[in-house]
Parts: sequence; C-alpha cells; structure tokens
Amino acid sequence: MTAIADVLGKIWTLPNTIAGLLIGFFALAFGARAEISNNAIVFSRVRFLHRAFTLGNVIFNPRETFSGHCPTYHSVAQYRRCGDAAVLEYVELARHEEAHTYQYQVLGPLFLPVYALTQILPSPTPFERAADIYAKTGTGWWPTGLTNRHRP
Ligand SMILES: [Zn+2]
Repeated sequence: MTAIADVLGKIWTLPNTIAGLLIGFFALAFGARAEISNNAIVFSRVRFLHRAFTLGNVIFNPRETFSGHCPTYHSVAQYRRCGDAAVLEYVELARHEEAHTYQYQVLGPLFLPVYALTQILPSPTPFERAADIYAKTGTGWWPTGLTNRHRP
C-alpha cells in the first residue's frame, strides 16, 4: 500500500476509527491501556470483550498485552468437525487484527455492513481467512475469493 493510499484509507475509515476511539476512551476509564501498534491505536485490557476486535484503525484487545496467538478460523472450523485439537493452527493475534485495519482502509464505512453480510458464509469467512493468511505470511490481507475455502 502506497503512503498516499494509506493516508486516504485512514481518512475513508475515519468514522469507524472515531467510534473506536470513543469506545476506547470509555475503556480507559475502566483500566484499559492504549498504545500505537500494528497500524492502529490499540486498547488492551478491555475487559468487557472476550476476543480482540477491530474498528477502523482502532483495535480492542481483552488481554493484558497485545501479544500472543489465536487459532486460525480455518483450523477452528476443522476442529469443530473432527474434535481433534491437533488440527488447531495458531497465528499472531496482532498481525491478524492488523490485517483487518487494512481491510477497513479499503472499505471504510462499508466495511461493517459487508463484513456482516459475509457472516452467512461458512467459516472461515473471506475477511477472517485473509486476516489469518496475512498473520501467517505477511501478505494477502485482502480477500481474493469467496469459494477458495481450502486456502491455508
Ligand atoms: Zn479477525
């Protein structure tokens, strides 16, 4: 992503980021910590969440620090089918959420409605699969297909 595209994307998704900052400032009053990391303002120790969540260039993290790993959506779907925990594959949580910030910069205010529509698809949905690919490889944060379910 070029510098100009990056700035334009951040402006385009600013409504999401502002909403995120409002929630983040609220969370600060309840013990959250803020830092700049992974293309976002990250609020960690957000205790009213059970999992990380991205809103524009804001990431909410329920954990103590913005580190650690999370299972890929693809491996969780496999695990649900077979019940064997050995199939679970983990990626860096921060890189996964960072991918969502780039996705937001492309779709801006359209991201949440489009993301919501993808929830009717089987897991992993395109945005989550792309975020896992980015977390694993450092590239491929944009979903490239709806039917390519067996991509890593
Ligand atoms: Zn995700």
